[in-house]
Amino acid sequence: MLVFRQLFDPQSSTYSYLLGDRAAGEAILIDPVFEQAARDAALLRELDLGLVATLDTHAHADHVTGAWLLKKRLGAKIAISAASGAEGADIRLADGDRVCFGGRYVTALATPGHTSGCMSFVLDDESRAFTGDALLIRGCGRTDFQQGSAHKLYRSIKTRIFTLPDDCLLWPGHDYRGLTSTSVAEEKAHNPRLGGNISETDFAGYMSHLGLPHPKQIGVAVPANMVCGRPADEAAAIDGPGWGPLTFTFAGFWEIEPAWVEEHGAELQIVDVREADEFSGPLGHIVGARLLPLGELEKRAGELAKDRPIVTVCRAGARSAQAAAILRKVGFGNVANLAGGMLRWRAQNLPAQGARD
Ligand code: FE
Repeated sequence: MLVFRQLFDPQSSTYSYLLGDRAAGEAILIDPVFEQAARDAALLRELDLGLVATLDTHAHADHVTGAWLLKKRLGAKIAISAASGAEGADIRLADGDRVCFGGRYVTALATPGHTSGCMSFVLDDESRAFTGDALLIRGCGRTDFQQGSAHKLYRSIKTRIFTLPDDCLLWPGHDYRGLTSTSVAEEKAHNPRLGGNISETDFAGYMSHLGLPHPKQIGVAVPANMVCGRPADEAAAIDGPGWGPLTFTFAGFWEIEPAWVEEHGAELQIVDVREADEFSGPLGHIVGARLLPLGELEKRAGELAKDRPIVTVCRAGARSAQAAAILRKVGFGNVANLAGGMLRWRAQNLPAQGARD
């Protein structure tokens, strides 16, 4: 069974795509975003998939790839076209190369024009293709920098993408209006830049008059992507918050296991966000925990110290996850949620003050 997820980075409006082979437990990630590496790793873990490779459609100008970071964290090989000129890749793709995940694969198609090294990736059964910034939904990538060429882009789209099956779904590298996918037939008929009978000359004329501003990130993103997203400070990027064995959840917060909290309680601020009657109820509470009900947390956050990590606690771990988000919002960086709350704490037979069985 194919596992497929479209992921979004709101900062750069970038789509990343996870493709997995459920039976083999292997996956690839197309166009990962550096800042989303923890999210992507959490999703892979929760889906029980090993990441075999990241594939970039091109050296992006608007965000930094997560390729290097995901290689460091998960051992995934870095794949990008040889024509991109990027250094540090494990797989330098040429037209027609396949990248396998379990029993499935994608084929790399050279589709230059937005940049000279752009590739699209086509799933083995041609049911889906990932077009990066070559073809966008009712649009296409710009051609005015990074060795872009409107003439090359026109031919790439007409001869390589529009020749895929009509019902092949197309998944772009970006969309700025919230659209998610399209199809070959749809774009052939309705793409206003090069659908229908629009000629190469018409297209080139159109593209030379877009008058777009330079992307905000280009000065940072292109040099970083030319080394596959390897940052200057490698250690800081790999470690994350260093105060405990934290796990980043796909929901977007850090969690910590009860046993570690029990062992290191003295170094932590344990904040119980349940109501007073629960705090003194039969489940009991963690020794040394401070009661700060969720509803009062934001206005009483000043009672907490900034120099000691905070672990938030509730009955089952949901309210305390919200509490962790609130504390982060008001400026506490080192916050983690107690995984499973007091229920898991008690199930693991850890000591609780006032507990009645
Ligand atoms: Fe691009």
